[in-house]
This record gives sequence, C-alpha cells and structure tokens, in this order.
Amino acid sequence: MTTLAPFELHRVATVAEATGLLDDLGDEAVVYSGGTELLLLMKLGFAAYGHLVDVKHIEEMARLETDDEGALLIGGAVSHRAVERSPLVEAGWPALAEMERMVANIRVRNVGTLGGNLAFADPHSDPATFLLAADATVILGRGDARRAVAMADFVLGPYTTALEPGELIVAISVPATPAGAAMAHHKFSFNERPAATVACLVQVVDGAVAAARIAVGSVGVAPVRVPAAEALLTGARLPLTQEVLDAAGRLAADAADPVTDGNGSADYKRALAGTLVGRCLADAAARASGTA
Ligand SMILES: Cc1cc2nc3c(=O)[nH]c(=O)nc-3n(C[C@H](O)[C@H](O)[C@H](O)COP(=O)(O)OP(=O)(O)OC[C@H]3O[C@@H](n4cnc5c(N)ncnc54)[C@H](O)[C@@H]3O)c2cc1C
Repeated sequence: MTTLAPFELHRVATVAEATGLLDDLGDEAVVYSGGTELLLLMKLGFAAYGHLVDVKHIEEMARLETDDEGALLIGGAVSHRAVERSPLVEAGWPALAEMERMVANIRVRNVGTLGGNLAFADPHSDPATFLLAADATVILGRGDARRAVAMADFVLGPYTTALEPGELIVAISVPATPAGAAMAHHKFSFNERPAATVACLVQVVDGAVAAARIAVGSVGVAPVRVPAAEALLTGARLPLTQEVLDAAGRLAADAADPVTDGNGSADYKRALAGTLVGRCLADAAARASGTA
C-alpha cells in the first residue's frame, strides 16, 4: 500500500488530554508528532491506526528553556531544527546543536522531533547516543503524573523503550556541561540513517583529563556507555597520545558489540566505532582545553 488509509486526527492541548485519549482508544490510537516515521510506516502498510493523537500543540511539550538547576529542558515535541537553531542551545550546549545539524536532512529536521526520535528507538539514532554521553534524563508523562528515566535506562533495544503504553515523552532534560568540560559528536553514514555514532564529554583540569564520558551507538542494538575507556582516559595528560586514543577506541568498539546489518559487517563497524571514538575524544579534549 502506498497511500494512507483514512484516520481521525485529534489535536489536543494537554498531556492529560492526550494520554486520556490513548487510554480510551487503546490499540486503535497512536501518538503523532512530526510523522516522519509514523506516516511512512502507515503508508507502507506496516502499521494501521484509526486515530492519531497530535501532541505538537501541547504547550508543555513545546518548551525550550533552562530550569532552576541550569539544565536544558527540551519539550518532547520540539523539532530537531528548533534545537539546532536555538541561541540558548548554541550558548550552553553547542555540541548538542552541532549534533542536531547532523541529523537526516533539512526536511526531516524541520518536522521530526527529538521526542519522536527517542520514542521510535531506531538503533541508528544520533540523539540517543549523544544524550547518553550528556547524562540526559527523559521525562515521561501520563495524566498529571511525571517520571524521570535516565537515558541509560530508556532505550531497551531496537524499537523498544521504557515508555509504557499510552505514556508520552514530555521533555528531555540535559544537564549543564561541567566546568572545564566540552562535548563532541561524530558519525559516519552512507545510507539515510547513521552506520556509527559516537559522543564524548571530556573534562580537563590542570592539563589532565578529570572525567570522561563516552557513548557509542548505531553499530549495535542500542547505544552504550563505555566505563572501561572512560577510566582509561581519566588522569591522562593533554595532548592525548595516539596510543591512548587507540586503546580507548578498542575498548569502546568491544563494548558496543556491533552487529552485521545493511551498513556493513560487525568487524567493519568495530573498526569504524574505534576510529570515531579516537577522533571524538581528541576533538572534545581540544575544545575543553581551548586548543580546538
Ligand atoms: C530520510 C530520513 C533520514 C533520517 N536520518 C536520521 C539521522 O541521520 N539520524 C537520526 O538520529 N535520525 C534520523 N532519522 C530519524 C528522524 O530523526 C526521526 O524520523 C524523527 O526524529 C522522528 O520524529 P517524529 O516527530 O517525526 O516522530 P513520529 O513519526 O511522529 O513518531 C515516531 C514514533 O514515536 C512515537 N512518538 C512520537 N512522539 C512521541 C512522544 N513525544 N512520546 C511518545 N511517543 C511518541 C509515535 O507514536 C511513533 O511510534 C531519519 C529519518 C528519515 C525519514
């Protein structure tokens, strides 16, 4: 099937209204945000719903602001393009804006949302990898209740998340970058979705790495943090040697547990992930030490 079957569109104004409808309509209804994944699935006949609950007009899910602790709050229905172009994001989280600029193409970024990307949980996701390294939290909502789930616990596997049926991603909270730290995001893709995504945070104090966070995604079934490589980096003096970068890359490639798919063999993706980790760490370290 290449055309959409008829459906009813429900434009709601609150999270409670949306989740109430989802509860009442059950399997007949689905959350609709930018529609870049959902409408494609429906057009291809992989999914069929009589009711689409449009969350784009919910004010709570459209915000892009900082909270009292200085964290960035991105509403679940905020588009990739809005994050990419936000002066607030550019000022405090420049690597997040940079990562968003690398997602898809301008047409997809204009309508596709951060919440939709995370909820869909395609294993080839830029934001899922970046937000893991950023130590972000996903805020889920049903009715008036909200619960916070760490990014590390949110993606459970391909197309599987901690979202319960009828629950919404209301917002994503990204903590302020620690003093002396910087982030970087590197990817490699030759198909529409990335073959490998790597994000790093490096904090530099007195010319040495005080803390590091490394996340690798798109090569395996879900993005992972790499504690062994993070420990290896901690205490290393700048500039990081090629030997240290290569060792961190090898540990990260092992932890990512690459799988063979349309983007290449597991061995190829292991090499890709290792190389990107070295480049990403060098980039973040240079930014953190002001030598970029
Ligand atoms: C051509 C193309 C290239 C792409 N390239 C990349 C890329 O390079 N990197 C990358 O990371 N991604 C890429 N993507 C994926 C893109 O980022 C996602 O399609 C987009 O972010 C999904 O958001 P949406 O608002 O359109 O979601 P929708 O299509 O509206 O929804 C997707 C799924 O999530 C559910 N959902 C949506 N919003 C919520 C919410 N707030 N709470 C709970 N459930 C929700 C829907 O019910 C549906 O199941 C690409 C997509 C396309 C089509």
